[in-house]
Amino acid sequence: MLGLAKRVKARILQASTSEVYGDPEVHPQHEGYWGKVNPIGIRSCYDEGKRCAETLFFDYYRQHNLDIKVVRIFNTYGPKMHPNDGRVVSNFIVQALKGEDITIYGDGSQTRSFCHVDDMVQAFILMMNTEKGFTGPVNVGNPCEYSILELAEKTLSFVGSKSRIVYLPLPQDDPKQRMPDITIAQSKLDWTPKVQLDEGLKGTIEYFRKTIK
Ligand code: UDP
Repeated sequence: MLGLAKRVKARILQASTSEVYGDPEVHPQHEGYWGKVNPIGIRSCYDEGKRCAETLFFDYYRQHNLDIKVVRIFNTYGPKMHPNDGRVVSNFIVQALKGEDITIYGDGSQTRSFCHVDDMVQAFILMMNTEKGFTGPVNVGNPCEYSILELAEKTLSFVGSKSRIVYLPLPQDDPKQRMPDITIAQSKLDWTPKVQLDEGLKGTIEYFRKTIK
């Protein structure tokens, strides 16, 4: 894609990820933090793949003056997620709606910060409209942090579900905490997420209520 962008002189956006920070020792995570990533674990293919892609983007920028933009996407959710996506928000909503057990991995004390897809897409558009030479990386996410147990409880209460919570083993290298520092996105893109978790979760529940049998 970088070769194609170079040939047709296109601006190119990398949808990078908070996974570049791995299991972070710095909290919240700012763009200057280089991360703590296991290079050979079960998540490494994704984490290191995204890190390598960032490296290639910046090499093309330095060597060919390619018009690159890099955003690091933190946990995102919303309507039109696939019910079997496997991510926590879709899993919990689908389980709650079907009356199945809510599967918490580990003790549920690990944290994530959840950004609504509408806010996320808005940030991409703003990033693509910045001047050439503003490359990022820019963190995009909603800096309000919840534990996975809190998310499970909210989902159960909003759905009005009688599902039980069950605790399953925590996958290897599952980050313990994650929250973006969005200072750069706020100042450079004039962007702040507008949809807070309660509202976004309720809308996403309504979407799944209509779509899953
Ligand atoms: N998780 C969970 N139950 C699930 C799916 C995920 O407890 O059914 C946990 C998972 O272990 C992680 C968090 O929720 O700590 C977020 O997982 P997800 O796969 O959505 O995103 P990521 O780990 O990439 O942040």
